[in-house]
Amino acid sequence: MIVEMSKGATKEQVNHVVDRAHSLGFEVQLNIGTEKTVVAMLGGDTGKTETDVFAVLPGVESVSRVMKPYKLASREFHPRASKINVSGVEIGGQRVVIMAGPCAVESEKQLMETAKAVKELGAAVVRGGAFKPRTSPFSFQGLEHDALRMLAKVKSDLGIPVITEVVDIQNIGIVAEHADIIQVGARNMQNFALLKELSKLRHPILLKRGFSATVTEWLTAADYLLAQGNRRVILCERGIRSFEDSIRFSVDISSIAVVKRFSHLPVIVDPSHAAGHFAYVPSIAKAAIAAGADGLLIEVHPNPEEALVDGLQSLNIPNFERLMAELRPIAEAVGRHI
Ligand code: PEP
Ligand code: MN
Repeated sequence: MIVEMSKGATKEQVNHVVDRAHSLGFEVQLNIGTEKTVVAMLGGDTGKTETDVFAVLPGVESVSRVMKPYKLASREFHPRASKINVSGVEIGGQRVVIMAGPCAVESEKQLMETAKAVKELGAAVVRGGAFKPRTSPFSFQGLEHDALRMLAKVKSDLGIPVITEVVDIQNIGIVAEHADIIQVGARNMQNFALLKELSKLRHPILLKRGFSATVTEWLTAADYLLAQGNRRVILCERGIRSFEDSIRFSVDISSIAVVKRFSHLPVIVDPSHAAGHFAYVPSIAKAAIAAGADGLLIEVHPNPEEALVDGLQSLNIPNFERLMAELRPIAEAVGRHI
């Protein structure tokens, strides 16, 4: 249940609503906006509680039942689009944020060379996998702690934020120490134990859509991250499994519009993992920006032929440069810039 307070409702009136909610067994989360405060009732049994219990209280403008399973990620709770600040880079604002870099950090030289090139070409965030969630246990698993140190060096030498994935609870602390954005991969979208721990942080989290997850399941997973007060959640569409097998995953471009309609969270697109092949990356990237995505997460490698992971889907530097040039007019056409 969502209680919208009237404009100018006093703190006492808000507290009264909160106390009433607690007395009925609900947990509460407040969204204190510039104009209005919205109170979300969590847990408890909203189905059995009459909306009038809250509607009657002074300072309450309206009470609505949220029929969807997610609350904190919903527009009802937070009517305005969230803008998320990542070390000075705003995600969800006018600027389309390009995050680019290698699938996996392979060496300091490879990472630094890629990071310098993508930064020069307009990327705002550098990506690089340290812990790799591989389908086979015999595949390269990432340089782990060494990679985190290399990412931290990129951040300090080039002054650009970095994103990397966390795959388990035990490494949350060390990843948070080195990364500006913590990525939760598609395979972990419903690893609720991991999401609960991440919710305790105040660190930006990028939540990838699981490749068999509906948009509703994705937004409900985002609620786990938001539940303990972390407000900085970014969504990432990376393609879903369908019957189509000519491409690795099918990018659900329409999910951008659905997320924008029902959620306040920014959404970006990863065309690389969807495509599985570098030839398809530019089309998907351009479509995503045209459809209103707030950014892209793109794999770039200085020499894809020698990449240890995902070489086939990685853009080399000239291809990334060409794509950036093609993206700019598209961003402008939808009232944004890169
Ligand atoms: C990645 O971005 O490195 C990755 C493994 O992606 P996904 O979780 O979307 O497969
Ligand atoms: Mn990859």
